[in-house]
Amino acid sequence: MLELAKEQIAMGQKAADKAQALRLLADRLVADGLVAEGYLEGLQAREAQGSTFLGQGIAIPHGTPQTRDLVFATGVRLLQFPEGVDWGDGQRVYLAIGIAARSDEHLRLLQLLTRALGETDLAEALRRASSAEALLKLLQGAPQALALDAQLVSLNLAAEDFDELAWRGSRLLQRAGCVDNGFAAALQQAEPLPLGEGLWWLHSERQVLQPGLAFITPQQPLRYREQPLNGLFCLASLGAAHQALLERLCEVLIEGRGQMLYQATSSRAVLEVLGGEVPADWPSVRVVLANPHGLHARPAKALAQLAKGFEGEIRVRLLDSAQPAVSVKSLSKLLSLGARRGQALELIAEPGIAADALPVLLAAIEQGLGEEVEPLPKCVVPEPMVEADALQPPLAGSHIQGVGAAPGIAAGPAHLCVERDIDYPLRGESPAQERVKLRQALEAVNAELQALVQRSEKAIGEIFVTHQEMLADPALTDDVELRLAQGESAAAAWMAVIEAAARQQEALHDALLAERAADLRDIGRRVLAQLCGVQTQEAPEQPYVLVMAEVGPSDVARLDPARVAGIVTAHGGATAHSAIVARALGIPAVVGVGESILLLAPGTALLLDGQRGLVSVAPGADELQRALAERDLREQRLQAAWASRHEPAVTRDGHAVEVFANIGESTGIDKVVDQGAEGVGLLRTELIFMAHPQAPDVATQEAEYRRVLDGLQGRPLVVRTLDVGGDKPLPYWPIAAEENPFLGVRGVRLTLQRPQVMEEQLRALLRAADQRPLRIMFPMVGQIHEWREARAMVERLREEIPVADLQVGIMVEVPSAALLAAQLAREVDFFSIGTNDLTQYTLAIDRGHPSLSAQADGLHPAVLSLIDMTVRAAHAEGKWVGVCGELAADPQAVAVLLGLDVDELSVAARSIAEVKALVRQADHQTARALAREALQQDSAAAVRALVERY
Ligand code: PEP
Ligand code: MG
Repeated sequence: MLELAKEQIAMGQKAADKAQALRLLADRLVADGLVAEGYLEGLQAREAQGSTFLGQGIAIPHGTPQTRDLVFATGVRLLQFPEGVDWGDGQRVYLAIGIAARSDEHLRLLQLLTRALGETDLAEALRRASSAEALLKLLQGAPQALALDAQLVSLNLAAEDFDELAWRGSRLLQRAGCVDNGFAAALQQAEPLPLGEGLWWLHSERQVLQPGLAFITPQQPLRYREQPLNGLFCLASLGAAHQALLERLCEVLIEGRGQMLYQATSSRAVLEVLGGEVPADWPSVRVVLANPHGLHARPAKALAQLAKGFEGEIRVRLLDSAQPAVSVKSLSKLLSLGARRGQALELIAEPGIAADALPVLLAAIEQGLGEEVEPLPKCVVPEPMVEADALQPPLAGSHIQGVGAAPGIAAGPAHLCVERDIDYPLRGESPAQERVKLRQALEAVNAELQALVQRSEKAIGEIFVTHQEMLADPALTDDVELRLAQGESAAAAWMAVIEAAARQQEALHDALLAERAADLRDIGRRVLAQLCGVQTQEAPEQPYVLVMAEVGPSDVARLDPARVAGIVTAHGGATAHSAIVARALGIPAVVGVGESILLLAPGTALLLDGQRGLVSVAPGADELQRALAERDLREQRLQAAWASRHEPAVTRDGHAVEVFANIGESTGIDKVVDQGAEGVGLLRTELIFMAHPQAPDVATQEAEYRRVLDGLQGRPLVVRTLDVGGDKPLPYWPIAAEENPFLGVRGVRLTLQRPQVMEEQLRALLRAADQRPLRIMFPMVGQIHEWREARAMVERLREEIPVADLQVGIMVEVPSAALLAAQLAREVDFFSIGTNDLTQYTLAIDRGHPSLSAQADGLHPAVLSLIDMTVRAAHAEGKWVGVCGELAADPQAVAVLLGLDVDELSVAARSIAEVKALVRQADHQTARALAREALQQDSAAAVRALVERY
């Protein structure tokens, strides 16, 4: 992605004319290795086609499609010409931004520049800028206008109190792209200001991306701090963008016209009072952009010029975006859309000119706005991963590797449930009729979901409760309402809003949150099917393997486990809700096997292994028989293991290993003990934090930890201190967005930056301990000073709160900790190896990656070497080592870990009986030999093959 940096800027340049300026730029791009010699011709050819003057003293020379091959690396170089260069047509350029880009990456840069272009005297400021820093500031720091439009107004909300209104306000701002998801928490800490007439004001500058104002009114009269609460303004504050609005609001209040705001029945009325952007109830047309590089400067300029030929207002917006419509006549606004090929635009024009202007603009866009355009495929799929045409169905006898999502072996004919496109009209009959249709569809889907909630067990039911909440989310329905008012059909409005929300969710750079996009699309499809009267697919009677592109949670839960033997999906990761549902239902599942599976002939025999993530297509009779025999054997083994779950795990030659449980909540500990746990080896305290609506204080935490210790009745408890970060943020704890959250401020790095949080947690733990065995460990330790700082805090608190049986250690999940184990082992009491993260960091594979995570196998010899190193170092100092990552419960890994002399295995409670049984079957000396041999292998697959042979 193109970004601006001061190193790219050369100040104080001189050029007699445009040709010389282009030469200077080309020389600079060549010298810096971005392009090959000859790119200058591209720059010249491009200028010959049309000037690259952008406005405000800025030009953006770039090559032509023909010279794209000369680009080695994408980048920009900026030359400041204080004396100016004549760019033709009387335009003077003070800053030339030379772009080397192979595709449409420069659209992002144009979006950024358009902010600066809004400034009135930027050209002069660019000319005078005396340093690269100052110039950058001008380009990036231009104040943005306050967002205030219909999507930021929500009236008559069924809210119960002030906090709920504030939360709704932040949601509106988030939807509009004004704030990050930490804004709600920031707002909670802000001091509310009464404005009079029951109107309140709340603002924060934290987590703000773009200034914006939301206004919300409650359905019922509310009170707050003993005053009426009729309406709330939530301001995402950035600079002085809100100044004019504030002045206008003061006038309204001084004149005693506040009720015009809180008694308003439409967002239009509110916007008229406040001077916000009033939605136009104007004729519109839609068109899909076909330009190969999107709406970049040249076609945008052509469009703006064409629009300027019509007297009156014409706006355009991206259909799948929450951004408001912008004027087509403004080049900078057009560029700010960042429209790409395949995205649908909606043109909206004043009624007086619509009949003339819209067909002209529509035709011009369809014809490419002066560029050659390839026709678009009939159905434009966003970012297709594979070209469907190039795919072949998997061959009989082939094996496909996917991601194991739910363990178990299943066989049966494939039942393909490939989603059919549902056609729907774009325009509605009338807003009122469409509103009724949508309400009926939402009610019907809500009733369907309610039935599913009642039919499902708790964990699954909760997912459907979330779906019901999504369905009732006022931010969604408000957006839909806006579209209905503009004449869209209920189906079109609903699907556009769902798609925009899902994309926004996907853009959050958080695997878990991104997977919630699947939930949104799931409810989206349900409502669409209702609206269009489409029946959902009936499943066949005999046990089958369900094959789908991506399974929505509701698809899975609607299934009858007695008839669905297994699930295979083309997309998706192991942490998707559908995978969780499949696990809870005990249906073996393999996800992310790739698009080709969707081309299978219905009824093809499939065999899947949810543990190994493998799918066999039309397996031979032998393979099938072997697999089914393995399944039966496993079933019998599990039953036997359950019967002896309370017995210790001792190998045949008398070596004992402790088998503990991983837990994430304080309730249900009795059940965990009943499943055979000898202690808790990992209490993920962040899950306890997440279960609270706000950060639990010391007393609340103490009660939680005490409950676990009480339930354990003297068995040890290993607690991990708060492990959050950009990868898994707490809703009430704003964390700055990071490019690579897994490599960012997470785990102990974060808690050391917020010592008060860590201190409170440690206090709660020490207070809860009494005489019971408590072990505390710190996550993500990668440097010895992190461990020492954390330990020092425990020691200080321990003087204040004595604990009889305390050990303090670290999780080994960063390779540097394993490599430093010898030094660390002298100081810690124990190590617990988090193989999930250790594997991710050792193999450099994002653990949630939908296609790569299948290769993130903890049995990789590189990971095993680090475990070996850690155990040896610990034992040399007389310290113990546990493994608490998923690897500890992998039946193929247990013997290897045993052979590496790990002292404790901590696994999900449901795996305890099986792991204990596996230990009992093993022989420690043989396992040691196996482990030595495993360390010599060159891949995880080779280790697994070795284990099979043993
Ligand atoms: C691990 O990384 O292996 C681990 C146990 O921690 P988490 O999965 O919670 O990151
Ligand atoms: Mg971890």
